[in-house]
Amino acid sequence: MTATVDLMVRAEGVRKRFGDTEVLKGVDAMVSRGEVFCLIGASGSGKSTFLRCINHLETIDSGRLLVDGRYVGYEERDGSLFEVGERELAARRAEIGMVFQRFNLFPHLTALENVTRAPVMLGRMKRAEAIETARVLLARVGLADRADHYPSELSGGQQQRVAIARALAMAPKLMLFDEPTSALDPELVGEVLSVMKDLAREGRTMVVVTHEIGFARDVADTLAFMDGGQIVECGPPDRMIREPSHPRTAAFLSRVR
Ligand code: ADP
Ligand code: MG
Repeated sequence: MTATVDLMVRAEGVRKRFGDTEVLKGVDAMVSRGEVFCLIGASGSGKSTFLRCINHLETIDSGRLLVDGRYVGYEERDGSLFEVGERELAARRAEIGMVFQRFNLFPHLTALENVTRAPVMLGRMKRAEAIETARVLLARVGLADRADHYPSELSGGQQQRVAIARALAMAPKLMLFDEPTSALDPELVGEVLSVMKDLAREGRTMVVVTHEIGFARDVADTLAFMDGGQIVECGPPDRMIREPSHPRTAAFLSRVR
């Protein structure tokens, strides 16, 4: 019972198909509260799809997927499951912060406005409070002096840090990162990973899809390798990187290192 309560994400046999293609073929994963869970795997193996399922952007075909003890897309009443409506879905989505490969900032809004937008629009905060919070968050990601800049006036690394501050503004209970540094010039990767390291140190629950094996080794509590729509191996990063038990993991690691 307690074990279940402490889980932020619990996936059992999660399957998802698009047309004739089954993309997730029975994914099993558990992410505890406060855990940093890094997910690696070749392009097309289903990593982004799995994140989108966790974030209520896709519905699963079969299996079980729970976030914070609740079935994604369903609510339990009198022991039965009922599909939730759009309002409830949106509310649950708002509890999860997502940072994508592309920064997805609103180009016509300043860094500060990008961060204040969601909490104000969703009625979480009054404008003044949202601005105050945004300034704190921008300072936390090292951008106190960039608050009034537009995305086009910021480097890719700075834009991605704004995107992280924007996600944090909703006080998410879970943060999902989908290859947050893949679109960045190499010299800008470090500043984003360093912000993510700080978040991990604060004890945030994070699921991070990444090719940065060094980051995974230093920061992850659990490293998982996805291949062909399944997590074929998962465990402590040190062990898995040193002596992967699955030949596909070994092959993948030798390619990305
Ligand atoms: P990864 O993030 O590991 O690269 P994805 O989850 O993006 O993998 O994609 C896995 C597979 O699912 C790919 O073959 C991709 O083309 C397919 N796919 C993803 N989303 C869709 C979609 N909405 N419709 C059809 N196919 C999709
Ligand atoms: Mg992807």
